[in-house]
Amino acid sequence: MTEAIAYAYTSPTTGATRTTLERRATGPDDVNISIDYCGLCHSDIHTVRGEWGEIPYPMTPGHEIVGTVQEVGENVSDFSVGDRVGVGCIVDSCRECESCQDGFENYCEGTGMVGTYNGVDLRHDGEITQGGYSTSIVVDKRYVLSVPESLDPAAAAPLLCAGITTYSPLRHWGVRKGDAVGVIGLGGLGHMGVKLAKAMGATVTVFTTSESKVDAAKELGADRVVISKDENAMEEAQSSLNLILDTVAASHDLNPYLATLKRDGVLVQLGLPEDEMPPINPGLMIPRRRSYAGSMIGGIPATQDMLDFCAEHNITADVEVIKGDYLDQAYQRMMDSDVKYRFVLDLTEEK
Ligand SMILES: [Zn+2]
Ligand SMILES: [Zn+2]
Repeated sequence: MTEAIAYAYTSPTTGATRTTLERRATGPDDVNISIDYCGLCHSDIHTVRGEWGEIPYPMTPGHEIVGTVQEVGENVSDFSVGDRVGVGCIVDSCRECESCQDGFENYCEGTGMVGTYNGVDLRHDGEITQGGYSTSIVVDKRYVLSVPESLDPAAAAPLLCAGITTYSPLRHWGVRKGDAVGVIGLGGLGHMGVKLAKAMGATVTVFTTSESKVDAAKELGADRVVISKDENAMEEAQSSLNLILDTVAASHDLNPYLATLKRDGVLVQLGLPEDEMPPINPGLMIPRRRSYAGSMIGGIPATQDMLDFCAEHNITADVEVIKGDYLDQAYQRMMDSDVKYRFVLDLTEEK
């Protein structure tokens, strides 16, 4: 066992506390990682505040991890001490079900994927997993990613959740040069969706409720920005898009967006709204063979593909790097949508 410094939450209403936690000894298949940077995801806030169900405290969140290998087990040949590596949302899965066999560990039907935090680590110690707001983590080699050296390590951290969550559907639905992609919402996920779709050669339309985000969307590379409250603008955008990534996690009416899909177009839900949504009008779906789909992060092979693609196209997230004493303010600013576009916790001086 080794001790890591960690930022933990001890109740739904308390802020981050600097403390320590125990990491398991490096097993034969394990990679022991010294964490340098960890992105702050909205899932972290929902989890530590108990908004997605009761959780065992103390809880250390964080699943956008970039670090440096400091020790490897005897069965590990793909990683060496000193390598730059990443860990995303998944640290284990059953490894036997159809989804695991196909490299979709995120959809594991056996034990279910074991989350990087607030998961139950049955294979090792049965303990609750603790995430990346900490100085080290020990992860089985099957769930460790290689992070290309050409990418800035802090700005690469959000690729491990926000990046793969948007890359996976763009790839699954086969976005190609010349396709028209829509992105609803311009937060951590949305801004990655714009960059990745552009790099794949798509023309990109951003839907936003706020006039103030028009310039920001264009700076990221959006070809068109549609203010979704403007009925005329939505009307003009009808039947123009092949694929839409919906990153909005609040309840909203999908029908005006479905109407902007071309024949065979697909709207993919990435944000998970807590409240019920207005019903979908089948009269919009049938005449143009439109689909409504969902997608959740991505498997390990796709995550490595995404990192390599980002290195090839020089893509990282736009980030604001913070220290541990700023976590509480960062959470508040995330709640206020006051970040462009991801906070990343710098752990390099904690060790
Ligand atoms: Zn996340
Ligand atoms: Zn499985």
